[in-house]
Amino acid sequence: MQVRDKFYIGGEWVDPAGSGKVEVFSPHDGAHIGTVPEAVPADMDRAVAAARTAFDGGEWSNTSPHDRADLMAKINEGINARIDDFAQTISSENGCPITWGTMGQVLAPSMVLNYFTELTREFAFENRHVGALGLPVVVRREPVGVAVGIIPWNVPLFITMLKMAPALASGSTLVIKPAPETPLDAYLLAEVLDEAGVPPGVVNIVPAGREVGQHLVTHGDVDKVSFTGSTAAGRKIAALCGEQLKRVTLELGGKSAAIILDDTDLAEAVPQLLPAAMMNNGQACVAQTRILASRDRYDEVVDALVDAIGNLNVGDPLDPATDIGPLVAERQRERVEGYLDIGRDEGAKIAIGGGRPEGLDKGVYVEPTLFVGVDNTMRIAREEIFGPVVGVIPYDDVDDAVAIANDTDYGLSGSVYSADVDTALDVARRVRTGTSTINGFLLDFASPFGGFKDSGIGRELGEDGLKAFLETKSICLPG
Ligand code: NAD
Repeated sequence: MQVRDKFYIGGEWVDPAGSGKVEVFSPHDGAHIGTVPEAVPADMDRAVAAARTAFDGGEWSNTSPHDRADLMAKINEGINARIDDFAQTISSENGCPITWGTMGQVLAPSMVLNYFTELTREFAFENRHVGALGLPVVVRREPVGVAVGIIPWNVPLFITMLKMAPALASGSTLVIKPAPETPLDAYLLAEVLDEAGVPPGVVNIVPAGREVGQHLVTHGDVDKVSFTGSTAAGRKIAALCGEQLKRVTLELGGKSAAIILDDTDLAEAVPQLLPAAMMNNGQACVAQTRILASRDRYDEVVDALVDAIGNLNVGDPLDPATDIGPLVAERQRERVEGYLDIGRDEGAKIAIGGGRPEGLDKGVYVEPTLFVGVDNTMRIAREEIFGPVVGVIPYDDVDDAVAIANDTDYGLSGSVYSADVDTALDVARRVRTGTSTINGFLLDFASPFGGFKDSGIGRELGEDGLKAFLETKSICLPG
């Protein structure tokens, strides 16, 4: 049980402006696991003012990239000293299985921070070239200013790091707004930042709900918004930022296709595919939820998946043997069970799952579920379910598989399975999606990550992820 009564603003633990509280409950058994203050707009005003002062003072943005990198490395030491603390806190908050969570929720963010730390040391923040007029031009990459990071609950530290690491690298300052479902891990991060000696106001952390979040997004002293969350909220935030001509990066939802080509060895592929389809209890934007199998091998693919799903351990997220934990909250279960009904009504069949697991009545559980006989026009194939529910869609030939994969509003992730990597690569080239993996699921932190179409605008990770927090300035010099 963690009780917090302050916010981390301006390098201090400050009293909240309001008196409300946000209670955090375990999705596994409903236990009360934490209390944090409920933010009000005045808290965000204070956080933005701290970030503004820190930025406008110029000291932080003018520190050398090497000094910024050294500070980032120190923050990383702090995270690595508390791996179990972070992993257990996040699993307790959102139900993520601890084994996957230690990697995905803690070590991966640390690797992201490490990547940006090294990039900060070698990135050309200023260079000089001879321009089109034959005269020297200095091109500078300057920090974007005061940035805001809006974080969802599903992978909170990881997504915070996709924003915080490049913001620090750039010399920008930042206000982070964690989701109200997962505020507790954000307090651990604030402690790490404090201990590492982050200058006052450079990173401020204020968990809050949507309305207060929107106040933050539209604040006149904010230069840039980096949002990760649902496509619906992303549209709204993009519109608000558009009105203010505020820089914005959007990482939104997905409905990614895993194309299983006919030469695939299913014994090798399914152990890769299933975790990619149901990672984080299916609450992952990059989940491979549309599994495309040829009509010839359809039954074989379904049988292999049913076997594998039948062997998943569903239960306490803090048990290292658990593969699938609870959903984050009751409203998320209502959403997922709503889609189970929709799928049945649309004529899809449930090959395994479809109910609530036995013996876990106190938690927000649904059984891992496989829909078969899915047509790509069905809502369960078009809309993000965000739970451990996937469907197998038949295709006629490779062209048909590519057409089905592309017949979606989204374009975040994808995968192609084949015995022949070159063949799979050719197919991956044809799928309109921001990231793809051959024979598995990988996210490469040195390469751009983001979405085509309704999955977002802009990129995180890689150099593109740093550039998202930079403004470019060209200074023309006399000859
Ligand atoms: P959500 O959009 O409801 O909330 C995400 C965050 O945005 C929360 O912190 C919430 O408080 C805040 N928020 C919502 N509306 C806001 C507004 N108008 N102004 C300011 N802040 C606002 O999404 P969720 O249910 O928390 O998360 C699930 C969604 O996130 C899924 O659609 C998933 O695909 C997406 N997601 C995308 C990525 C990615 O990188 N593309 C990663 C993780 C999750």
